[in-house]
Amino acid sequence: MVIAKAWALKKHFDGFPKTSDFDLKKIELPNLKDGGEQKLLLESVFLSVDPYMRPYSRRDMKEGDIMIGTQVARVVESKNPAFTVDAFVVAARGWRTHFISDGKDLQLLPSNWPESLPKSLALGTVGMPGLTAYFGLLEVCKMKPGETVLVNAAAGAVGSVVGQLAKIGGCKVVGCAGSDDKVAYLKKIGFDEAFNYKTVKSLDEALREASPDGYDCFFDNVGGEFASVAINQMKKYGRIAVCGAISQYNDSVPQKGPYVQLPMIFNELRMEGFLVTRWNNRREEGLQALLKWVVEGKVKCHEQVTKGFENMPAAFIGMLKGENLGKAVVKV
Ligand code: NDP
Repeated sequence: MVIAKAWALKKHFDGFPKTSDFDLKKIELPNLKDGGEQKLLLESVFLSVDPYMRPYSRRDMKEGDIMIGTQVARVVESKNPAFTVDAFVVAARGWRTHFISDGKDLQLLPSNWPESLPKSLALGTVGMPGLTAYFGLLEVCKMKPGETVLVNAAAGAVGSVVGQLAKIGGCKVVGCAGSDDKVAYLKKIGFDEAFNYKTVKSLDEALREASPDGYDCFFDNVGGEFASVAINQMKKYGRIAVCGAISQYNDSVPQKGPYVQLPMIFNELRMEGFLVTRWNNRREEGLQALLKWVVEGKVKCHEQVTKGFENMPAAFIGMLKGENLGKAVVKV
């Protein structure tokens, strides 16, 4: 018999999440049965902490529920011939060390995953965040060679891939991030221009200096004040991919801001919100493209690895505060 550890939402977040909002629980797992639903025992090896957990917890969870989330897990015991012991899968089973599955909700890592490549990347560059960058740029921004792409939260899981894919696509890339170290990293991985949005005197001026002609595509991970300033620097027929609004997730009182209509009309902009799940039917295409670029060294990956399942809440809070460079993951 296995006792799993799991983090539950003790209390709905009010403003910025606190460690006291979480509760560590122990859950006794049943033994596997022949012919039943309980065919596989898995152990989480890496768990993801993502911004969406903040707004989705309010929308989809009740207090006491196990925190939502995905993991890379190893098959420990199997009564399902499709999954051998020691196979690695991506699962969306929340913040748990172990779980039971019938296999239907598991996705094996691509069969051509190189042995030398960290499996944690299946939660980042070669996983959901990478796919978000890929489909957001191709299908929502519809970037074309020679265009200028702006991305914020640029040193994070999604943003760092957005910038690198835009470079592969022949664009000029401008990125913003919240520390000088992050800015240095963006320049190292090929961004043409990068600045620290927390220390510039004027965001408006910094954006103008980085691209005096304005922006064709804006991949918006942040929303709020940043987006309100950037929208005024879009070129005619510019496209804005509304990917995330992390600057608003912890607000108890909704922000009021300048409204989007006038700049949208004057420059005939297109602004489209999206969820990466829209392209679930093209997941394999996206993963194979990302895996190839990573293996060829054309897309660089950085991970912020927090050690220890007991540190899940701290890793999540740290990511919301901007402590991560690249993808924030927890190694059990
Ligand atoms: P990141 O790895 O980028 O981590 C979050 C980062 O956001 C922090 O490191 C921090 O970086 C930045 N940040 C935090 N608070 C603020 C703020 N108030 N203003 C500006 N930046 C802030 O996370 P992801 O790459 O996983 O996600 C990025 C965005 O994409 C999120 O908004 C997320 O919700 C969204 N998303 C949307 C998906 C979709 O399907 N639409 C799928 C996946 C993600 P810094 O130091 O630069 O401030």
